[in-house]
Amino acid sequence: MSNMEAPANTPVWVNEARCKACDKCVSVCPAGVLAMRQEVHSTLGSMIKVVHPESCIGCMDCELTCPDFAIYVADKKEFKFAKLSSDAKERKEKIVKNNYRILDEDL
Ligand code: SF4
Ligand code: SF4
Repeated sequence: MSNMEAPANTPVWVNEARCKACDKCVSVCPAGVLAMRQEVHSTLGSMIKVVHPESCIGCMDCELTCPDFAIYVADKKEFKFAKLSSDAKERKEKIVKNNYRILDEDL
């Protein structure tokens, strides 16, 4: 459930004021959509970023896992989500190996 207005044509979005950079959403996302970006002014020096929205499958795992209600997923009736691809799965593995940080190729 979102306490922010859903942006148009967006599968997943973040309320950065609530994000505490715990990495949990990145760790559960099966499609390599999310990663932590460097942010010197935030908690732990990082901030969640929606890096590959086009790969979001709408599984809701990020929203359901976030302890701070900081990330939201569009309603399946209002957004056509992607199917899980092998590229997205591979990217997820790379992000995990990169300690949940954004990959160089996505900077
Ligand atoms: S809804 Fe699923 S695929 Fe989309 S960002 Fe959240 S965890 Fe990843
Ligand atoms: S799970 Fe929530 S608080 Fe943790 S990094 Fe993701 S959006 Fe931020």
